[in-house]
Amino acid sequence: MNRREFFSTAGTIAAAGAVSSLPFACSDARSFHSRAKNAYKTTLLVVGGGPSGVCAAVSAARLGIETMLIDNGNCLGGMGTKGLVGPFMTCYDASGTEMIIRGLFEEVVERLIAKGGAIHPSEIHQGTEFTAWISEGHEHCTPFDAELLKVVYDEMCAEAGVKVLYHASFLEPVMKGSRIVGAVLLTPSGVEAVEAGMVIDATGDGTVAYRAGAPAVFGDPDSGRVQPASLFFRMNNIDTDALIAEVVPHLPEFRRVNGVSYRCLHWRVAEAEAAGEWDLARKSVNIWRSVEKDQWVANCTRIHNVDATNAQSLTDAEIEGRRQVQELMHFFHKYVPGCEKATLMGTGSTMGIRESRHIHGDFVLPVQDLIDGVIPEDTILLSANSIDVHGAMGGPAGGLYMPIKKDMYGVPYRCLLPANVSGLLLTGRCISAESAAAGAIRVMPPAMALGQAAGTAAALCLQRGCNPDTLDYADLRAALVRAGAFLG
Ligand SMILES: Cc1cc2nc3c(=O)[nH]c(=O)nc-3n(C[C@H](O)[C@H](O)[C@H](O)COP(=O)(O)OP(=O)(O)OC[C@H]3O[C@@H](n4cnc5c(N)ncnc54)[C@H](O)[C@@H]3O)c2cc1C
Repeated sequence: MNRREFFSTAGTIAAAGAVSSLPFACSDARSFHSRAKNAYKTTLLVVGGGPSGVCAAVSAARLGIETMLIDNGNCLGGMGTKGLVGPFMTCYDASGTEMIIRGLFEEVVERLIAKGGAIHPSEIHQGTEFTAWISEGHEHCTPFDAELLKVVYDEMCAEAGVKVLYHASFLEPVMKGSRIVGAVLLTPSGVEAVEAGMVIDATGDGTVAYRAGAPAVFGDPDSGRVQPASLFFRMNNIDTDALIAEVVPHLPEFRRVNGVSYRCLHWRVAEAEAAGEWDLARKSVNIWRSVEKDQWVANCTRIHNVDATNAQSLTDAEIEGRRQVQELMHFFHKYVPGCEKATLMGTGSTMGIRESRHIHGDFVLPVQDLIDGVIPEDTILLSANSIDVHGAMGGPAGGLYMPIKKDMYGVPYRCLLPANVSGLLLTGRCISAESAAAGAIRVMPPAMALGQAAGTAAALCLQRGCNPDTLDYADLRAALVRAGAFLG
């Protein structure tokens, strides 16, 4: 059964009406193509080298498709490398019994472990220093080393024959009617065009789909907000035994009041606040032990109302993020036992963006389906990641955190299909989903599984000469299972 047939039987086409009335549509004039040098020709172009883009490119190339992967940075991995975000969130079902995100994600983890760059998720338990002592929805996370992750992704792309181009920013799509047939890039060589048989949008922000004319919403249209951004940083030289000894006696005091978390080191934050040495918008800190015992990842900064599609907004956020990191380092040195000599290893080379555009297709994944544990027929990803919407209550530290009560939920193939544009698939953070639903599946293991599904779907479409919306999803699911994905 293909997507059109599925819609007519499932009745989901009704969602299309809502999409067409969205106020947020691309009106930018396209003006660069006529001046671009025709530099590349490829069968599949993947734009964005984050976890989802890498998995899309590798899975398509392994199926024999000539694939080009471009990124505007200098490495693959997106938020997981440039953004220093980690650990990988859980890849298990809600009971923590079975690993349900497998395929390329599992291969990445195995390759990292072989290099000494990760701890297998089966060995990691929630409520410990590896999960910032969070004790719900975090069973079997995967700590990893961001530098080694860059190498693993480079190696996987090279082995699969993916042509990778760094320092290449997507500027605009090349369109033939409503079909995307390539892209214009800004590279150090100038403005260059890529001709492509199909394109996958793995930019996180949905930039390709948006510029090609797909409808999009920014953040949560009901609240008019996006989740806050955070600049991650890493510290080493921490006396981990002393830090654990400081935290563990306070575990019974961990609590959440009116959406505000009083978790790790909230008692030390209160001391700093009383001394006038804390002006950050949170009452506790999230610090996660990494692979090396003295190294910790810190997810503690918070910057509200950042628009990731606006350079000035991003610039202001980066500066504020670094300021907050300095304040936090002072806090760790002065107030936290075990952290007196902590060294700042580095801040992310890019601001951590949790949310920006959500591209809409005919089907928009409702958060209620995740809560209800719905597993649609065209499921291409099973996950149990919690619904995690930071700052959802509008206050400085408030948020919505809802661990999954059912064992798992499914994400349908339909979420990868943008409305109005053919020859294009979505993957990763920007897929067609409600803001709160995206708050659950935006994390890296699901993003990688979505990427594997998008790359496999593109390969099948290119081999069959069909558009993504007519691909038989049963064939896609079978191909994913053959490649090691778990679909139940
Ligand atoms: C603060 C924060 C904390 C998080 N914590 C966790 C966590 O603990 N565990 C977890 O698993 N996940 C976590 N996540 C989520 C996760 O990191 C991201 O949602 C995930 O990386 C999304 O993958 P992606 O491939 O869709 O996008 P990204 O990782 O954002 O990758 C997109 C890539 O595309 C590139 N790109 C964008 N635009 C262009 C363009 N125009 N031209 C060329 N290239 C472009 C970007 O530079 C980037 O490399 C967190 C995210 C944030 C922001």
